[in-house]
Amino acid sequence: MTSTSPSNEQAPLIIVGAGQAGAMAARALRESGYAGRLLLIGDERHAPYERPPLSKAVLSEPEPPALDLLPTGFPAEQGMELLTGRRVARLDPQGRRIQLDDGAWLPFRACLLATGGQVRTLPALPPGTPGVHYLRTLDDALRLRQAMRTADRMLVIGGGFLGLEVASTARAQGMAVTLVEQAPMLLGRAVPPEVSAWLAGRAAAYGIDLRLDARIGSLEARDGGVTAVLADGETLRAPLAVVSVGLVPEVALAQAAGLVIDARNGGVLVDAGCRSSAPGIYAAGDCASRREVGSDAGLRLESWQNANEQARIAAAAMLGVETHPAPQPWFWTDQFDCNIQMMGHGGSGTRYVARGDLSPGRDGGKALIFGVRDGLLAQLIAINAGGDLRAFRDLVGKPLACAPEALGDAAIPAKQLARLALGQARS
Ligand SMILES: Cc1cc2nc3c(=O)[nH]c(=O)nc-3n(C[C@H](O)[C@H](O)[C@H](O)COP(=O)(O)OP(=O)(O)OC[C@H]3O[C@@H](n4cnc5c(N)ncnc54)[C@H](O)[C@@H]3O)c2cc1C
Repeated sequence: MTSTSPSNEQAPLIIVGAGQAGAMAARALRESGYAGRLLLIGDERHAPYERPPLSKAVLSEPEPPALDLLPTGFPAEQGMELLTGRRVARLDPQGRRIQLDDGAWLPFRACLLATGGQVRTLPALPPGTPGVHYLRTLDDALRLRQAMRTADRMLVIGGGFLGLEVASTARAQGMAVTLVEQAPMLLGRAVPPEVSAWLAGRAAAYGIDLRLDARIGSLEARDGGVTAVLADGETLRAPLAVVSVGLVPEVALAQAAGLVIDARNGGVLVDAGCRSSAPGIYAAGDCASRREVGSDAGLRLESWQNANEQARIAAAAMLGVETHPAPQPWFWTDQFDCNIQMMGHGGSGTRYVARGDLSPGRDGGKALIFGVRDGLLAQLIAINAGGDLRAFRDLVGKPLACAPEALGDAAIPAKQLARLALGQARS
């Protein structure tokens, strides 16, 4: 069990942040048999909900889908105290207590920070400006959904995963969409150039007016719309602008409490068990930077699977239970009627071999891209090829016995090739 002082042995486990990681950690704690007091505290007014549909079905479906992360009745049945609409204002690691926004102090035996992140904002377009939207919360999505009903044109600023998804959803709703991205390539740090080029082609084929390598000279919100003047003098106007320029991890509590913050990515630095630098304090999800075994460098991921995995690991660590380490990171995105899945890590020195059809037209093609680094299968990227990715997933992170080019042989069925490569890798 977690080491606690005699005075707080009876105190509850407290989870700060009732989002993906927080809710999943609460669930994992109960499923692991922890029967003591458990508090899940979130500052949003909603019960814990899934965020991925916010840029997809919530904006497009006639009725927003159900997003609940916990089964109805779970908190009551499981004797869990769920406080919504309550902000944790302070963390006192030495005293093992937190302070709520009304000033009340609550002791804890262990505390999990699952505080996610805040959207990065543009000074010229502050949140709340008419016609300007940022997207992180359900309330943000409901506001955007409402605005999309009456607008015929959208300007998306930022071509990351989220900006692309919103652009795709808006276009599918019949809106004219211009997307401005300052980098010369889409997702240049996440995917290799051939996938980036495919994505740009796919967005264009879908009808997005894509502006890459575009510098915004000035931005102005006026008369309920937004005007962007590009560095080359072109003026773009839309009644609706969605700004999607990244996330700032929410680490205010941790920072004020003196926990070590990863200077590289702004996350709360944790070890493989999601333990922070302060005894009894853990962090998971978008706010956590997990130090890899044998490395000083932390890795902060913003994904649904990472939040779930770290929640499971943190819950086990809070109970002092051994657990298996996180599997290879996996991420998916749905955009332009295509499903893209990624597993493992790319990075410098990774060489890519494509298997299949990377043509952006018609239905977007179907391809599995293998990233090979230092003789290992470092990354898989599947475009409309989730089944093929599943066939190869056990190979990720393992040495390849075959030449990388052999993986690109589309004449051999995926499962057969995977079995062959897996057998070789195991031998
Ligand atoms: C629109 C959208 C689409 C996405 N699509 C995908 C996708 O397709 N695939 C994918 O893999 N990932 C996707 N993601 C990312 C994924 O949803 C996040 O990585 C995941 O939600 C992170 O979970 P978390 O618990 O760390 O943070 P969150 O889910 O953000 O939860 C953190 C919670 O903590 C609360 N909080 C913060 N500080 C305090 C405090 N002091 N007191 C109380 N509460 C506090 C916050 O308000 C928030 O409710 C998407 C995200 C968004 C926003």
